[in-house]
Amino acid sequence: MKMLVTGGAGFIGSHLCEALLQRGDEVFVIDDLSTGRVDNIAQLQDDKAFHFEVGSILDFAQLEALVKRVDFIFHLAAVVGVKKIIEVPVDTIEINVLGSHNVLNLAARYRKPCLIASTSEVYGKSTKHPFTEDDDAVYGPTTKSRWSYACSKAIDEFLALAYHNAQGLPVVIARLFNTTGPRQTGRYGMVLPRFVDQALRGQPITVFGNGRQRRCFADVSDAVGALQQLADHPAAIGQVFNVGNPEEISIGELAKLVRKLTGSDSEIRFIPYDEAYQPGFEDMNRRVPNIAKISKLVGYKPKVKLHEIVTRIIESKRWEPSASVEVPVTADLQPHSLRPGAGE
Ligand code: UDP
Repeated sequence: MKMLVTGGAGFIGSHLCEALLQRGDEVFVIDDLSTGRVDNIAQLQDDKAFHFEVGSILDFAQLEALVKRVDFIFHLAAVVGVKKIIEVPVDTIEINVLGSHNVLNLAARYRKPCLIASTSEVYGKSTKHPFTEDDDAVYGPTTKSRWSYACSKAIDEFLALAYHNAQGLPVVIARLFNTTGPRQTGRYGMVLPRFVDQALRGQPITVFGNGRQRRCFADVSDAVGALQQLADHPAAIGQVFNVGNPEEISIGELAKLVRKLTGSDSEIRFIPYDEAYQPGFEDMNRRVPNIAKISKLVGYKPKVKLHEIVTRIIESKRWEPSASVEVPVTADLQPHSLRPGAGE
């Protein structure tokens, strides 16, 4: 099949392109290279079945030409990463809302089925755990820009479901929980590549807040497998699915695990949220996916466990000595809140 992957030069997008090419699909990518990197797809450039265009999903004409050519759309292009979202609040809303509108509008116009990559952010700061697809979303105020990401992706979901219900567009929504793996950069805030970069360089491992916040990390290979399974399953159409790995860890424990698996003697430095992000920043205390729905429909079961996930990132980064990590502005502060016992 001919597949369009918007955001195909990004971390997850590039892994998806590889998987699609491996099974014999022809792959078309549009990516504005804002967070995507040509390096992510360099290994695919010689493949005759791979076509890459630099461009934005805000460019309707460019997108239209691509949509016309393909059989299916994986829509992954978005402004992602908590740090990035705070830095570019206008782009976050415009690209995520207007860009997704372009994708869905064209998909409906040319009757092309699509998968919309959404995010566990849409649950917001709800304290009900684990998160199940039909649970309520709980957001903070509009004065806290973090929530613009959740709202922008929630609008995408509403719009996709509206196109499905009102116009019969075959669309499936995948809510990706924390996904990590080789090629993910720490530049936009994602915690695991940041910790690994910091540990390998002997720099302080920067735990934000008290480190007791908990997350569940899925390996990108499991996430990409889930996206393909959902795209292939006719009964997934018109529905929302969590995609993640329910294995849970606190960020403080994660810092220790990274330090152990890298053999690093980096200190673990606790940094208040106000300094790490912006004053008044609100974090999610806990985020766990309920994956019963996707497991039941397509038999999805994450294969890669947390130790292996961390090990794979470490191995990939050992071969990437130039990988850069933007250490927060607080890097030159004294370890004002070094609490070795925290996060247990
Ligand atoms: N985090 C951290 N140190 C870092 C980067 C992130 O302690 O250098 C924390 C962050 O505050 C959050 C968790 O790690 O509680 C996961 O952050 P990430 O941005 O990877 O994903 P999120 O779950 O926030 O979308």
